[in-house]
Amino acid sequence: MGNDHVASIIVDVATEGTDKAFDYLVPKELSPEIEIGCRVKVPFGPRKIMGYVVGFPEKPATRRLKPILDVMDIAPPLTPELVKLARWMSQAYLCPLITVLHAMVPAVLKGKYQRILRLHPDFAMKKLFVEAEEELVRLLQKNREVTLNRALSLKGVDRSLIREMVDEGLLVMEERVKDRTTRKRRIWIGPNRSVDALRQSAKTLPKSAARQKEALLFFAKTGKEVSQPELLSQLGISKPTVDRLVEKGLLYREEREEYRDPFAGHSFEKTVPLPLTSEQEKAFQTILGPLREYRHETILLHGVTGSGKTEIYLQAITEVLNTGRQAIVLVPEISLTPQMVKRFKGRFGEKVAVLHSALSDGERYDEWRKIRSGEVEVAIGARSAIFAPFPHLGLVIIDEEHESSYKQEEQPRYHAREVARWRCVEHDAVLVMGTATPALESYYSAQLGRYRWAKLTERVQGRPFPQVDVVDMRNELRSGNRSIFSQPLKKALENCVDQGEQAVLFLNRRGFSTFVLCRECGESIQCPHCDIALTYHRVNQTLRCHYCGYACGVPTQCPSCSSKYIRYFGTGTQRVEEELARLMPGLRVIRMDVDTTRRKGAHERLLTAFGEGKADVLLGTQMIAKGLDFPKVTLVGVIAADTMLNLPDFRAAERTFQLLTQVGGRAGRHQKPGRVVIQSYTPSHYSIEMASNFNADAFYQQECKLRKQQRYPPFYRLFTLLFSHPDRVALMQAGTRSAKMLSSRLPKGGELLGPVPAPVPRIKDRYRIQIMIKYDHHMDEPTILIDALRQLKTSFKDPDLRIGMDREGVTLPIDGDG
Ligand code: ADP
Ligand code: ZN
Ligand code: ZN
Repeated sequence: MGNDHVASIIVDVATEGTDKAFDYLVPKELSPEIEIGCRVKVPFGPRKIMGYVVGFPEKPATRRLKPILDVMDIAPPLTPELVKLARWMSQAYLCPLITVLHAMVPAVLKGKYQRILRLHPDFAMKKLFVEAEEELVRLLQKNREVTLNRALSLKGVDRSLIREMVDEGLLVMEERVKDRTTRKRRIWIGPNRSVDALRQSAKTLPKSAARQKEALLFFAKTGKEVSQPELLSQLGISKPTVDRLVEKGLLYREEREEYRDPFAGHSFEKTVPLPLTSEQEKAFQTILGPLREYRHETILLHGVTGSGKTEIYLQAITEVLNTGRQAIVLVPEISLTPQMVKRFKGRFGEKVAVLHSALSDGERYDEWRKIRSGEVEVAIGARSAIFAPFPHLGLVIIDEEHESSYKQEEQPRYHAREVARWRCVEHDAVLVMGTATPALESYYSAQLGRYRWAKLTERVQGRPFPQVDVVDMRNELRSGNRSIFSQPLKKALENCVDQGEQAVLFLNRRGFSTFVLCRECGESIQCPHCDIALTYHRVNQTLRCHYCGYACGVPTQCPSCSSKYIRYFGTGTQRVEEELARLMPGLRVIRMDVDTTRRKGAHERLLTAFGEGKADVLLGTQMIAKGLDFPKVTLVGVIAADTMLNLPDFRAAERTFQLLTQVGGRAGRHQKPGRVVIQSYTPSHYSIEMASNFNADAFYQQECKLRKQQRYPPFYRLFTLLFSHPDRVALMQAGTRSAKMLSSRLPKGGELLGPVPAPVPRIKDRYRIQIMIKYDHHMDEPTILIDALRQLKTSFKDPDLRIGMDREGVTLPIDGDG
């Protein structure tokens, strides 16, 4: 391990210049606690800052090292494996190591924390040898708990003494972090004296203090603490009564963070493995092989919606747990629904931790702690759950692996699929990527033989695919129908409701803009700080910018021509809802979009209501496209299929295909046959046509051909550099200079495009331009280019300039196809 008196530390200063480890001395008394992955406090210039221990150098850089001041955690939040992963990510995604390390630990660890000491619940006064020990125990008996620093201030008490006492089971040390978001606190009242002492005190109370007496006898009987509200209501006493008893020291009052269990109150019905269909069995065996041999393999589980992929995941996890290893399940944020959680909790019960972004920071931390301490063996969560600090990872499952939310759009801009692959190689673990519509990259890798295919072509119990009709909206216009709804969709909807069945209407949020338009001059009203139209919010009659948060009242006249003829378009879903009310009065509609699901739990409530048949139609955005399983849904309508095709994104066709295939899967999941109606202005586009024919292979072939032609991933590697600056001229200069510098470092056959304005050319008063770099994916990592990119940020002295880098298709060292 080298010289264990010196540690290399990555300090918490996120500037390029400090992206290297600094050496610090490990003081003797901290030495047992300093491990790779732990957080420490160190002097840095005039300040004291936080850092992560990342190694123990053989030869420290200099002799005159400063000492580490403190260790911040009881157990290191990161394992050596995660520290190694962080190094790889920092290289691969060109971002500072500290940013990656931060991304791996729960957010609360960045906030204020305290270490708390308490007596062990089973503490029994035994003979204590040292005076300092007795002193500490007395302090704890008086105060119930004290901070570590308070304890250390006692004479003769030092860290090794405390450590000893913890090891001997006399004390408990606990980290307490402040949960800044939703701090759920509760006040507890409990007996501060023995049962006999309480009885004794009750006797001595004057007659006038009957209430106090009652409270004391209550505690003398139960001997247990109770929450203040409960105490007050149970005994019918008032708070001042309790206050008095607390003042006398007979009772204690303590405010504590409530134990946060996001699924408290849910009961999960135990489920047992289902006998697999023969298709499922085959796919399962493909996973089982490498799993049992402790051999890394990536398996693309390509199964149509409803083919029973989740049951395969569950059974594979059972297998992993039986070998004493752990499993991570990644699901897109949007489909991390209670329904999904229920399936995992139903099979594995308490062994599951759920990492959900709707959790408060504190709740997330609680779940994470269960993983770190080995209390759970399965972690299920969105993207960042890939960093679950399991020591013996056996299996990673990525459900809906094609989902764009697996890519983080801020630093570190990693893709969970690539990180998962790295971890699985490191652990000789199996990676299963399940989807009905693989990402093109994954499809291509499977075709090359880099991934194993496992295909599920049938729905469980042979349920038929729905009938899909594409309606040409241009024809509707020509025949005079200017409504959002085509005749065929309207008829289908009426039919569906007449039969007492349910429909799902899907609208792509990004397509249906929600702006205010002047009918005289045709201008939409723009954000004064961003080059983007303001969004109209009908509920509170405001215009808002979705990029910077700017909000204003709705104007009565056009800001550019002063005309009074202004037209408001409600949010896409609101508009559709209004139109539905007009077309089919009495129709019961549940609308699900960002506006109706903002409150915690709203998502679930709306879905439950729909599941209970309280509405005929579920109308919503992306969030209803996947994962839902309602037996009574027989119709799925897509309001506008091509809105996404117009986005400036080389994945536009792929995303359209995936989305249409996914929504189609929502119809006819059970006994009743399903029907899908897709409305489109470009019905002959290959993504729409092939999705409606369920012809995945044809789509992927076509798309591969185009990507190759247009030099996009997976055939080309792609860097996007985004420059932003409040001054347009300075920005352009920086962009041009960078382009020139980078052009000379391009690998052979590489290509540099730009600088050009970014898709949104100005956000928050900062102008934005971008540069794109492409090169052949067969190329070895072009070191000269990568070095140039790394240096780019430091080569400008302008503090107003920001440069972001985004990378598509990181080469993994294990990719063997050359
Ligand atoms: P997917 O994840 O591929 O969309 P699911 O796992 O949700 O598919 O399965 C669809 C439905 O079929 C679920 O209701 C599930 O309980 C059921 N199912 C899955 N496998 C089996 C099986 N072997 N036997 C009976 N029902 C099954
Ligand atoms: Zn704005
Ligand atoms: Zn106008």
